[in-house]
Amino acid sequence: ETLDRIQLLEPKLHSFLCVTADRALEQAQQVDAKIAAGDDIGLLAGIPIGIKDNLCTKGIPTTCASKILENFVPPYESTVTARLATAGAVMVGKTNMDEFAMGSSTESSAFQLTANPWDLERVPGGSSGGSAAAVAAAECTVALGSDTGGSIRQPASFCGVVGLKPTYGLVSRYGLVAFASSLDQIGPFGRSVEDAAILLKAIAGHDPNDATSLNVKIPNYVSSLTPNLMKQRKFRIGIIKEAFGEGLDPVVGKTVMDAVDELQRLGAEITEISCPQFRYGLPAYYIIAPSEASANLARYDGVKYGFRSDETHNLMEMYTKTRAQGFGAEVKRRIMVGTYTLSAGYYDAYYLKAQKVRTLIKQNFEQAFSQVDVLVCPTSPITAFKAGEKTNDPLSMYLTDLLSIPINLAGLPGLSLPCGFDEAGLPIGLQMISNVLQEETLLQAAYAYE
Ligand code: GLN
Repeated sequence: ETLDRIQLLEPKLHSFLCVTADRALEQAQQVDAKIAAGDDIGLLAGIPIGIKDNLCTKGIPTTCASKILENFVPPYESTVTARLATAGAVMVGKTNMDEFAMGSSTESSAFQLTANPWDLERVPGGSSGGSAAAVAAAECTVALGSDTGGSIRQPASFCGVVGLKPTYGLVSRYGLVAFASSLDQIGPFGRSVEDAAILLKAIAGHDPNDATSLNVKIPNYVSSLTPNLMKQRKFRIGIIKEAFGEGLDPVVGKTVMDAVDELQRLGAEITEISCPQFRYGLPAYYIIAPSEASANLARYDGVKYGFRSDETHNLMEMYTKTRAQGFGAEVKRRIMVGTYTLSAGYYDAYYLKAQKVRTLIKQNFEQAFSQVDVLVCPTSPITAFKAGEKTNDPLSMYLTDLLSIPINLAGLPGLSLPCGFDEAGLPIGLQMISNVLQEETLLQAAYAYE
């Protein structure tokens, strides 16, 4: 049924870069066999799932929506997709994304534009736009994305689904193609908080193959979602004052404040919290992320992976032509910015300063979480925009992540869930944030609201 639905909708949506029907049927048969044998079928038995195309899948192309990896077929499986397979999930395809996860609209994909299911002329957000659109249109039940500066939460908000970026280190990144290693996290998309919790439970937990993976006990995120949570436990919720400033669409601001009223009505205690450095997250991010990206992307040189230009006569030309022809404009912009900010003489002025801002933002949050359990603000200052509207204006594109980026800089978990619609009928996302490793509390607060 899922494969039929994908076939029906893909001509309009283009959420998937490749549909893995064979693997899906094979995995589904394995579940059937387990049922027949009376074996444990796993937490996600038979559940159709979409996987962002920056997660390595053995024997199945993993392109990062980049020409430079167009023909790359990984010889190994990422930890998350391996864990999903063990849990019985059925992978139906690899989803479209911004090239190397750099972007906020999925328009920087080298291969196709994904449409927002709520309005086909609009973008699904990004960079995990294919995963968000696929879940919103029920082309799969749940999906995985990656979030370096908002790439799960912002598209979840634009497409009206739930998206969760876990604590840095909670989910193994073994087999995730690196963008900015001190920020990247993998996380779930679902049409409900419970679905996101189930998926998180299946992928979270220590992995010796990832040196940043935390060795902590994983709570049962699913069984802790019980009725009347807000009545049993007084949730202290803080509204981030600085998130309601310049650039915020008034309808988004009002809808999010209505959601806060609803939380209060449900029994939460509401306070206003000031995070004075919150809005410096965006400029700090656009130094730190490109710096790390410029180093991570040095490996695409025409030798080790994927594409190699054939118009070359010597080694240097092979490097330069391969990279010139293989990378798209946004990726090149990041490599150039990052190379500049890491250069001798500029390092102290840019990179080091950005790291200091990052520390201040972390301290803002530490202070905030000494007073409240959960922070709230809009996920994105605006709703889904029209395709093409921001392609020639990178700064206005970057601004869509103004409110999601500080959470990555601090390594905190953040979740976006639908809280209403604007005048055009486009979904608005409520962002909830908790302290490190407090995903259980975060999911409970979101579940109580939902
Ligand atoms: N939109 C942000 C960027 O372009 C965040 C991307 C992400 O989270 N992968 O860098």
